[in-house]
Amino acid sequence: MTYFDHNATTQPCAEAIEEMQDALVKLWANPSSTHAAGQAARSALADARTRVARFLGCQGAELVFTSGATEANHMAILGGLALGRVRGRQRVVLSAVEHPGLLALAARLRAEGVVVDMIPVHRDGSLDLQAADRLIGDDVALVSVMGANNETGVCMPLDELALRAHAAGALLHVDATQLIGKSLRRFDTSGADLWSTSAHKLHGPKGVGALVVRKGLALPALLSGRQERQRRGGTENLPGILGFAAAAERASLTLAADIAHMQGLQERLERGLLALSPQVHLYGEGRARLPNTTLLRFGTLDADLVLTRLERGGVLASSGAACSAGGTQPSHVLLAMGESPEQAKAGIRLSTGRDTTVDDVDRCVAVVTAQLLPLLAEEAVATP
Ligand code: PMP
Repeated sequence: MTYFDHNATTQPCAEAIEEMQDALVKLWANPSSTHAAGQAARSALADARTRVARFLGCQGAELVFTSGATEANHMAILGGLALGRVRGRQRVVLSAVEHPGLLALAARLRAEGVVVDMIPVHRDGSLDLQAADRLIGDDVALVSVMGANNETGVCMPLDELALRAHAAGALLHVDATQLIGKSLRRFDTSGADLWSTSAHKLHGPKGVGALVVRKGLALPALLSGRQERQRRGGTENLPGILGFAAAAERASLTLAADIAHMQGLQERLERGLLALSPQVHLYGEGRARLPNTTLLRFGTLDADLVLTRLERGGVLASSGAACSAGGTQPSHVLLAMGESPEQAKAGIRLSTGRDTTVDDVDRCVAVVTAQLLPLLAEEAVATP
């Protein structure tokens, strides 16, 4: 099988697995216990904090370990809103293409009476900055955008948004989950106040992530308790946190080369696929995009059908569309880009990783040729 689904998750690297196994066997004491075993765990936790902070570009004291990016996003939005309310600010501004977990939180807030405004995107998936200008006013508590979109890979204009948010006196939260391991962007040079990440997108374990909280920002906790300097209660997931640290260190060794490698693969993949048929449509072309993400549609062939055919040929990928009890729902990202519901159910995301090879890419193009070109030819005849 050829894995083209790295934006969903990545395989844990050997370094992370080894360090986690070691922690499970040797560092199982509670870091809050005052005895020697507890203190050994505490010291490993402090060490892991320094290692992850070095990778993300923040200070150790700015890092709050969480159960992943979903929790970090909740902490950022709810905490940012609470801080805003103290200053009479009640409004939250998000991009229309945020992660479904964050949009679900926004829907919940709206039901509670909070005003949540969405910054639209252009047809190519890039953020409409003129609309952002109109929406970011001095009644806004928090602006929240993703660093790069998980479906299209299109990068968001973080510098411009930081300027606008800060000029209005609002906080900027960046859901940086898809940036890590694929971008040189770091917290310290981003202008953001809050920065969410998740270890499993970086060849680390699932169920662990972090929220970076800029120094001096008294963000309230989501989970009360004394751990993480009272910012996140609950006994720390030390094996997970050490796995995150090992994955971060491993990633930092080859980051620039990995990005260049994935960029080369992306060019080869997209060139190969676009050459197959004029019915192959690439999203976000020409825009600043993650080097590993290619979102396409093959005519209007339904994503479910395309994914089944790709898997038959040994290629594992994903669609942006969400599955629910009522069947496949169109991708909210593609709808926001102005695609029809039919087109928005046809998006296929191919996402590579640092271990993906040129052979994998060539195999993918060959599988598309064999499995999908006949279907595309049929569709062209049916809809001339
Ligand atoms: N935000 C983005 C942009 C994501 O891609 C994901 C993972 N799909 C998440 C948040 C959620 O991360 P986690 O699985 O760590 O909760």
